[in-house]
Amino acid sequence: MVAFLDIGYKYGLFPYFGAIIKAMLNIKKQINLKPYTTLKIGSKAAYFCVVSQEEELFEAIAFAKDKKIPIMILGGGSNVLMTKPFPGLVIKNELKGVSVVKETEASAWVEARSGEWWSALVYFAVERGWGGAENLYYVPGTVGAAPIQNIGAYGVELKDVFYSLRAIDLKTGREKIFKINDCAFGYRDSVFKNRFKGKYFVAGVTIKLSKQPRLHLDYGNIRDELERLGIKKPSIIELADIIRKIRDSKLPNPAVLPNAGSFFKNPEISAAAFKKIQKSFPDMKSFPGSKPNSIKIPAAWLIEQAGFKGKRFGPVGMYEKQALILVNYGGATAKQAVAQVKRVQDGVYKKFGLKIEPEVNII
Ligand SMILES: Cc1cc2nc3c(=O)[nH]c(=O)nc-3n(C[C@H](O)[C@H](O)[C@H](O)COP(=O)(O)OP(=O)(O)OC[C@H]3O[C@@H](n4cnc5c(N)ncnc54)[C@H](O)[C@@H]3O)c2cc1C
Repeated sequence: MVAFLDIGYKYGLFPYFGAIIKAMLNIKKQINLKPYTTLKIGSKAAYFCVVSQEEELFEAIAFAKDKKIPIMILGGGSNVLMTKPFPGLVIKNELKGVSVVKETEASAWVEARSGEWWSALVYFAVERGWGGAENLYYVPGTVGAAPIQNIGAYGVELKDVFYSLRAIDLKTGREKIFKINDCAFGYRDSVFKNRFKGKYFVAGVTIKLSKQPRLHLDYGNIRDELERLGIKKPSIIELADIIRKIRDSKLPNPAVLPNAGSFFKNPEISAAAFKKIQKSFPDMKSFPGSKPNSIKIPAAWLIEQAGFKGKRFGPVGMYEKQALILVNYGGATAKQAVAQVKRVQDGVYKKFGLKIEPEVNII
């Protein structure tokens, strides 16, 4: 298919090929993206299609090239805030499937197509007793979006289990394999949010799992929950289930209260700068940063201290049980959400002199 695309581009045959395969892909015009986001805020896309086979993806790329319009990929829409109409083609990814690529006595490599639910991939692993990804169970969204921000939860990040990914260049249709060193994974960050932003469609991700895993239990209230249930040595599947229950009890369900999870990243500053701020705010919470000599400050604590926890401004506000989560209490517009983002950022800056950056992709 890639060779076919290369020839198509070289000889300018795309409009013609596009016409031949058009029957497969249904491209709609002027579609409101609101229902496709967990915040239930959205504007219109000039063109919109759903791809459930890779051939359809190539046709969508050809369509956008022909019309000279940009492409935006949408997975589960759980990490986006759409603020303006999108003038191009939105591709909703529904490429499904999980398979074992390789197995040895100690490890298993599992590949999922990128439109698969991330938690379906994790469940595939935990039900076989293969460990490494269980702390990331129940992070919403698709497999293809997981590397974009290097998803993380309960002391584990995607990078800890990542083996490789297969990406398609959205301009040339060419395939490229990314290994871990190509991805520049950081805290809620990767090369796909920076240098290669909007350049690739992640088509599949392979994770490497351990058959003798070391469980990560020292995070959040995992130990408390184990004690409460009287479990001394949890199995991988038991741990995944505990993580699901803890998440369910703490986070608002987007189907009931539209939200996009943690809206802001935890700011990271040097240990010296932290010492200075701590003089004015001795109760300030902190934990080790991702770089040597750096400290992370929980944005939730900053937002709460700045007075935003549970406070509503019209139909938007920061969730009453977790100040990091921006909630749409019903009918919020993009303008109201953007104003709330700015209000919270300004409030935190005014009180602490610290800048908090959105984790959610504001588009
Ligand atoms: C209740 C709740 C809890 C959450 N908890 C966590 C958490 O614990 N940890 C965490 O890290 N995140 C968390 N999130 C955020 C979210 O789940 C992740 O960021 C997830 O990876 C987003 O997946 P998605 O498919 O919904 O991506 P989308 O929102 O559809 O897309 C996100 C970004 O990735 C791009 N993208 C998506 N798919 C592809 C692809 N195939 N190729 C190229 N680019 C692509 C999009 O263009 C967009 O820029 C939470 C969200 C919610 C609503």
